[in-house]
Amino acid sequence: MKFIELFEKKVKQTIEKYKLTNKKEKIIVACSGGKDSTTALYLLNKFGYNTEALHIYLGIGKWSEKNLANVKKICERLEVKLHIIPIKKEIGKTILEIRENKCRICSINKRYLLNKKARELGGKKLVMGHNLDDEAESIMMNLFKGNVELGLGTGPKTGLLQDKKFVQRIKPLFFCRNEETKKYAKLVKLPILIESCPCSTDVFRRKIRNWLNAMEKKDKKVKENVVHWFLARLPELRKRYTGKDELKYCERCGEPSRRKICKRCELMKLV
Ligand code: AMP
Ligand code: ZN
Repeated sequence: MKFIELFEKKVKQTIEKYKLTNKKEKIIVACSGGKDSTTALYLLNKFGYNTEALHIYLGIGKWSEKNLANVKKICERLEVKLHIIPIKKEIGKTILEIRENKCRICSINKRYLLNKKARELGGKKLVMGHNLDDEAESIMMNLFKGNVELGLGTGPKTGLLQDKKFVQRIKPLFFCRNEETKKYAKLVKLPILIESCPCSTDVFRRKIRNWLNAMEKKDKKVKENVVHWFLARLPELRKRYTGKDELKYCERCGEPSRRKICKRCELMKLV
């Protein structure tokens, strides 16, 4: 079988084996303009799923402009409805205008907006582009920081805490390697920008990535082994940790939170 067919088969098998979605429900694809989420949108559309795209426009100069243009291009090509949410309209500032805690504020707002908008759009699932490399890095980061609990919601289908206000996130590229996704996106000529965010300062993630890549020079299966090891232990770990925190709704914004005031409202100094 050729590379393209093998890659598509792997994504299809992930969707089917983990029952990520079905062809009747509306699914919202979180499209950043990068290779992963564009590939996820392209494939779900190709397989005949009921997709709409959601892009958070961050206002990070030319980088954001190029991403937006690419997301528009692929949605036009696939005839998929696109919803664009400018972050400035939602939080009053573009990411460039934020001085402290840029990355943290950006990611916490992206997460908040993706869930809220997907819910308002009637999406039954929210598709994320995370791939095998991202997952292996996150697992190791949580392990090194002693934050195993943080990773318990992971998996091709996320959701440790279930609530009517949470749209379940699904990751069809969960078992696809970074390099193979890049190769696939290029072969099928997707309009993508292979350039990480110019604001990104996640030094710890970069260190773990370099370390995992160095380990893989000796054994190509290191990341796969990390991810499969974690998935196999998830049910037992979830049993041990679940129910410790009760889910509430943030008193300020009304979104689900483990505390009285959610982390986003606290960070944004909305209290
Ligand atoms: P990141 O956290 O930037 O590695 O992105 C992980 C996933 O979040 C991507 O694969 C997308 O599915 C989603 N995502 C990131 N940035 C955006 C954005 N600006 N708009 C919509 N979805 C996004
Ligand atoms: Zn809040």
